[in-house]
Amino acid sequence: MKRLDGKTALITGAARGIGLAFAEAYLREGARVAIADIDIVRARASAKELGPDAVAVEMDVTRQDSIDRAVTETVSALGRIDILINNAAIFTAAPIVEITRQDYQRVFDINVAGTLFTLQAVARHMIERGIRGRIINMASQAGRRGEPLVAVYCATKAAVISLTQSAALNLIPHGINVNAIAPGVVDGEHWDGVDAFFAKYEGKAPGQKKKEVGSSVPYGRMGRAEDLTGMAVFLASAEAEYIVAQCYNVDGGQWMS
Ligand code: NAD
Repeated sequence: MKRLDGKTALITGAARGIGLAFAEAYLREGARVAIADIDIVRARASAKELGPDAVAVEMDVTRQDSIDRAVTETVSALGRIDILINNAAIFTAAPIVEITRQDYQRVFDINVAGTLFTLQAVARHMIERGIRGRIINMASQAGRRGEPLVAVYCATKAAVISLTQSAALNLIPHGINVNAIAPGVVDGEHWDGVDAFFAKYEGKAPGQKKKEVGSSVPYGRMGRAEDLTGMAVFLASAEAEYIVAQCYNVDGGQWMS
């Protein structure tokens, strides 16, 4: 018996990176998975590689019509949604005096409103069907403290931690557990973009910031997407039934250092 046998999951931003690793891990544990992403071409390619228990769903978490359609499509493809991972997000960085309202709005729309309204749509589905579901939001160590060049992204992830707490308290009477995962620094395309911001604002050579953060992690290296999958499976499994409104660091010890 696998830990997620018979379960279905909708994972946003799963065409690549951490979301894709979550999808692979869920499939290994017996779940069927919707790979939801704004990049539908890549979502289709990823789903195809994962096999018949993965379906690609086009989804822009900033648009309510797109959220609603993605939920409907997932339900018609997989029958129901037992697990949601709110994983889609983007990074931005700038000194305080250079932050633009446009960039602030764009990042809050995806990272915060996208998380809230996807969670809302899936919670409505779970309540209607009486599904004792699981919702996992992707926070970050950036949500636990500010950073000099990362005000907007840090604020979005602090908001995700707060939304996790409120949604968890509101939804647990329906048997829906809401929790969050706070990664530290995870190598991949996302961090290639982060590295480029630091190259721009701190005058670092490309790749230098990655090396620095990697060696600052107590474990001794940056995280890999696979390092996070154990927590994502655990929080969706029967073993996590009594866990509510928590945000778990999975960061090689970085938060403590
Ligand atoms: P990533 O950039 O590799 O993947 C993000 C995915 O989200 C992409 O496939 C992208 O197409 C999709 N996406 C972007 N905008 C979207 C939208 N409007 N609607 C739907 N999908 C959209 O990022 P990742 O490194 O895999 O990060 C996954 C999650 O983990 C994010 O929430 C991120 O903030 C969080 N996180 C990452 C790190 C890290 O170091 N990589 C650290 C802490 C937290």
